[in-house]
Amino acid sequence: MRYLSTRGRAPDQQFCDILLGGLAPDGGLYLPETYPKVSAADLAAWRTLSYADLAFEILSRFIDDIPAADLRAICQKTYTPAVYCNTRAGSDATAITPVTWLEAGNGPNHQGGLALLELSNGPTLAFKDMAMQLLGNLFEYVLDKRGEQTNILGATSGDTGSAAEYAMRGKHGVRVFMLSPHGRMSAFQRAQMYSLQDDNIFNIAVKGMFDDAQDIVKAVSNDHAFKAKYKIGAVNSINWGRVVAQIVYYFAGYFGATASNEQQVDMAVPSGNFGNICAGHIARMMGLPIRQLICATNENDVLDEFFRTGVYRPRSSAETHVTSSPSMDISKASNFERFVFDLVGRDPAVVCQLWQQVESGGSFDLNDTPYRDALAGFGFVSGSSSHADRLGTIRATKKAYGIVVDTHTADGLKVAAAHRDAAVPVLVLETAQAVKFEETIREALNEEPPRPEGFAHLESLPQRCEVMAVDVDVIKDFIRAHVVD
Ligand SMILES: *Cc1c(COP(=O)(O)O)cnc(C)c1O
Repeated sequence: MRYLSTRGRAPDQQFCDILLGGLAPDGGLYLPETYPKVSAADLAAWRTLSYADLAFEILSRFIDDIPAADLRAICQKTYTPAVYCNTRAGSDATAITPVTWLEAGNGPNHQGGLALLELSNGPTLAFKDMAMQLLGNLFEYVLDKRGEQTNILGATSGDTGSAAEYAMRGKHGVRVFMLSPHGRMSAFQRAQMYSLQDDNIFNIAVKGMFDDAQDIVKAVSNDHAFKAKYKIGAVNSINWGRVVAQIVYYFAGYFGATASNEQQVDMAVPSGNFGNICAGHIARMMGLPIRQLICATNENDVLDEFFRTGVYRPRSSAETHVTSSPSMDISKASNFERFVFDLVGRDPAVVCQLWQQVESGGSFDLNDTPYRDALAGFGFVSGSSSHADRLGTIRATKKAYGIVVDTHTADGLKVAAAHRDAAVPVLVLETAQAVKFEETIREALNEEPPRPEGFAHLESLPQRCEVMAVDVDVIKDFIRAHVVD
């Protein structure tokens, strides 16, 4: 399988080559040259597989430069109930991504039902562990094979950073330099990241917003000489390895919620950088019977605006709201370019032209282009949610079902409700556990969220992080001084 850039001016690559990189050298994002199609026979055979075996079947359609036996072993090592053990009481950890019905709906196919797809049972209690744990094992495998090392540079609004650090901690040949927005993460998120004492983990809190941190990562990655000399790798949302790993749970969720492969489902996805829902889009392009992908945003509603109006207008960091679903406080959705590449018929010239407008601080408008009509064929609907909606949804979900959901999942539930339909079930992707955002849970419920075993004293552990200005050169100096030698 060859991978090509959305901007069309980078050499084609294989999976292992793009795994350790970030943006393509032309500034675009890598995508497979075609999406593998799943047949009815595939779906029938895959329905009964374990999560690890399903992951192997799907990933092997995208990865042909790792021997099958090795890829299978990596999947089996990654997707174990011991790693994804932090389930809600009563959920089955062996499913890895259990489905919890809030309303069972009608009949064996749960028409009209409402379910949570639990994706946050891994070590950092957010869905990012689903892909990042795989990435940690893939990195180790590929670096060992090549006798190479890498310095991972990333930006996080909270959940990516901790997931990356827990996936890479102690892995030889790997160092992690993780930029986070100073003072903008929850106490729990800060404690998760900054309490890691591993020698290969460096936390850098920049005095700005997430988008400023991400711009620094982009600037460093665009300095090709620096990137090559210091072997800079990426694990942020644009990493193809993460997107491809996320495709698996759309299939697992579909099988978990349906009784037959004739049936359709809707999937609601709390969205920020468009990485999660981009995997859903690809699953749908492969032939998984997803009827609608429901894109849920918070007050930072760039994506909702696009799907409603056809206008993509990224905001500046000054226009980015700080919200109680902070992992969605994103105003330039970095994976969105992958979807737009498909939307414009995979024409890199069109993508280049649209992103020229975006990168010069502007926007683009698909109205009066053929792409506005094409959009309807991709099955997206959307909506946004506010702090008051979040509190209301957390309260209503507790009252009706006895379940405490996190703030991002609450955004998903709120937007899903507006698009609910008696013909199909809707699965809301549960992207984090409530304990990560307990300030808001207390505000909504006046009680503490449930804490999985092993997280009792997290905030009282000693913490370690460097505070720095939003300055590319300062960050580069720090990396130079601390890279693997
Ligand atoms: C990262 C994150 C999101 C947003 O996912 P994207 O892939 O960036 O769209 C939503 N919810 C939680 C809890 C997250 O950590």
